[in-house]
Amino acid sequence: MANRRALQTTLVHSDYQAPEGFGALPQAIHHASTVLFDNVAAMRARNWHDKSGYTYGLHGTPTTFTLEARLAEIEDGRHCVLAPSGLAAIALVNFAFLKTGDDVLLPDNVYSPSRELANWLQQDFGIIARYYDPMIGGDIAALMQDNTRLIWVEAPGSVSMEVPDLPAICAAAHAKGALVALDNTWSAGLALKAFELGIDIVMQALTKYQSGGSDVLMGAVITRDQALNAKLDAAHMRLGFGVGADDAYLVLRSLPTMKVRFDAHDAAARKVAAWLKTRPEVAAVLHPAFEDCPGHANWQRDFTGAAGLFSMVFDAKYSEAQTDRFVDALELFKIGFSWGGVHSLAVPYRMHGMRRNWPYAGQLVRLNIGLEAVDDLIADLARALEAL
Ligand SMILES: *Cc1c(COP(=O)(O)O)cnc(C)c1O
Repeated sequence: MANRRALQTTLVHSDYQAPEGFGALPQAIHHASTVLFDNVAAMRARNWHDKSGYTYGLHGTPTTFTLEARLAEIEDGRHCVLAPSGLAAIALVNFAFLKTGDDVLLPDNVYSPSRELANWLQQDFGIIARYYDPMIGGDIAALMQDNTRLIWVEAPGSVSMEVPDLPAICAAAHAKGALVALDNTWSAGLALKAFELGIDIVMQALTKYQSGGSDVLMGAVITRDQALNAKLDAAHMRLGFGVGADDAYLVLRSLPTMKVRFDAHDAAARKVAAWLKTRPEVAAVLHPAFEDCPGHANWQRDFTGAAGLFSMVFDAKYSEAQTDRFVDALELFKIGFSWGGVHSLAVPYRMHGMRRNWPYAGQLVRLNIGLEAVDDLIADLARALEAL
């Protein structure tokens, strides 16, 4: 057939078919924008709303469906929608469930870009965004109004590390007909069974532990409820939040080692945190597994592990210039945002602009504990403390 056509056409339409029956362990990477139909009737019968078939690359390929199914499984959920970043996943939830006139409550320690997005929704889209103390617990009932549609929770806050009382917040929300969405990135879905605590919508920044390589940006929204998922699917289609097949594959490739990595990050972080607690320069170590972290009792009740991310607060006698010198003096700990990868990272944060009623006067530095040997990390911190 190809012989009767111009080379230009043959370049586009090849008769070659790869042999079937190739067996290998990795998931194949399916790149596709166009998805082919056998005939018009098949095209008309196909519906992007259900995942029983393929319609267009944006709505899913075998690669993205596989990743979605695996992520839902990890969270004990039923449905999953991928987004091109963790922040895009947050936006997807907001667009799926909020409309003009609705009220959304966010914790005061919320991931900063999520606060930016909520403030934009308030300024330009007529949604009301209000902030609550992350340790409010069941008292959040007093903040709820008839138009309160959605409550965001983060467990813990990813800089200030408070662990909220999730079951109490969920009970108060449900009593007044609001949904609760959890940014569950810290636990990676491994150390917290969100749906069992009453959470309606789980959001993950796959950029962190699911990727583990500091090389992918991706997010996911996971639900158990078919009606909630239908709203997320519709928002996903309308916003065009597709993800690349190679990126989806990178996450699929990293998932089998995620639990081993998470446990190693956890064990190393607890050792580093325990060492920091012995240092006179350090006023507080904000790690949910340690007693002086706000919400430690909630962590003990609800979590089965901890991530490798925590914060240290310096004694107030050290100036910002001094603690910046400490961060600059670190060699193994690199300076950079994001976390969940194998490299240890340190980032100083100015808390007084970020969080109302912040109780500490000293400087805060957030640490991501990577997979280097713990003794080397502690030696690096000890040496850098000299630079104070
Ligand atoms: C990183 C992060 C996000 C956003 O993920 P991106 O993929 O970087 O957009 C959201 N929430 C938390 C808690 C995060 O740490």
